[in-house]
Amino acid sequence: MENFKEMIANRHKYAEDWKKRTGGMVLVYNQPYMPEEIAYAGGMLPLRMLPEQKPDVISAKWLYGCCYPVKNMINQVLSGDYDYMDVYVYVEDCQWVWNFHELITDLKPGLLNHFMFFCDHPTAPTSKYVMRSEMQVFKNKVEEWTGKEITNEALDHAIELYNTNRRLLRRIYELRKVYDMVILGSEMMHIMIANQVMDKAEMNGILEKLIAELEEREPFEDRIRLMLVGSELFNAELEEIVESLGAHVVADETDYGSSYFWNDLVPQKDRLLAIALRYLEKPRSAMKDSNWRHRLQHIFEMTEDFMVDGVLIGKQLVCQPHGSDNYAIWKLLRERAIPFHFFERDTTLPIDETSVRIEAFLDMIRPGITRVRGWNQPLVI
Ligand code: SF4
Repeated sequence: MENFKEMIANRHKYAEDWKKRTGGMVLVYNQPYMPEEIAYAGGMLPLRMLPEQKPDVISAKWLYGCCYPVKNMINQVLSGDYDYMDVYVYVEDCQWVWNFHELITDLKPGLLNHFMFFCDHPTAPTSKYVMRSEMQVFKNKVEEWTGKEITNEALDHAIELYNTNRRLLRRIYELRKVYDMVILGSEMMHIMIANQVMDKAEMNGILEKLIAELEEREPFEDRIRLMLVGSELFNAELEEIVESLGAHVVADETDYGSSYFWNDLVPQKDRLLAIALRYLEKPRSAMKDSNWRHRLQHIFEMTEDFMVDGVLIGKQLVCQPHGSDNYAIWKLLRERAIPFHFFERDTTLPIDETSVRIEAFLDMIRPGITRVRGWNQPLVI
């Protein structure tokens, strides 16, 4: 498990080495709807930017009043952490990342970049046609950048590789659907994040070996089971706090977490339409869910499937997409009698304050969890 933490810590070196090894281009993105298959089929390495908190000496000069993940990403780019990036792609989502896109394309005029529109109402009747056309424009762009045609065979290979990756991740993720689970929430989060900064061909081999090892692992003891919902979580700090307080995180509904790999791409003759449909049908980001509120049903199904005892909603400060949907999530959880705790954070998680709040939440829900208190065990006289 330590290897996944190292992959995250060494992600910049990995990308630089990948470029030297393959001669390919690195494409960096940060929003949830990036159709990686097209970039991969064009011989590029798609990497997700992580809003890691570092001493911030730059972003305040350029951005005011935006969320901390975006501040951190600006700081990293302008500090040179992503100097190996050949291409930046912004797939339209929240307004702060639009500012990020504007800023770095302005300050780094030589950087190849692309803006992809993404429909605000993914299930609207015309969205599939709009997005198919956006996929075509993006494919043309990749061909222009690399000077190579993207063939159907290359697209099929990329689709197969990414679908395999999603299936392997789901297989590991589902190990937490049972009480005697063999993987911790913090471990799963490290795997999910590392997966987004690695070449999937390499990652799939690592995940296959991991599954074999997990099958031999002794289960962890049953504890209170929590689910995470909210804005970006790009590390496992929150899961580690929960685990240090004697509970488990068994599921999440976050863009960097399960929403990244939840649904497969169903192959069809029109590859670009198939890719468009996969991204339209993925679990919604908060930004793309303001009309029909599909996320509520998805969150509820996850609480049932993973036998969740309570939900933690962690919202980034000044995150408007997640701020504006909270009323609906709170209503859903209240109506279904699912206990929850809401808190706001920036990218630095105050350990003491967060621990006190989560501990109080666990103390509130513990009396009702008869399973953990042993009331369901046969009486031994
Ligand atoms: S979704 Fe929220 S936290 Fe994420 S970049 Fe947008 S405003 Fe910031």
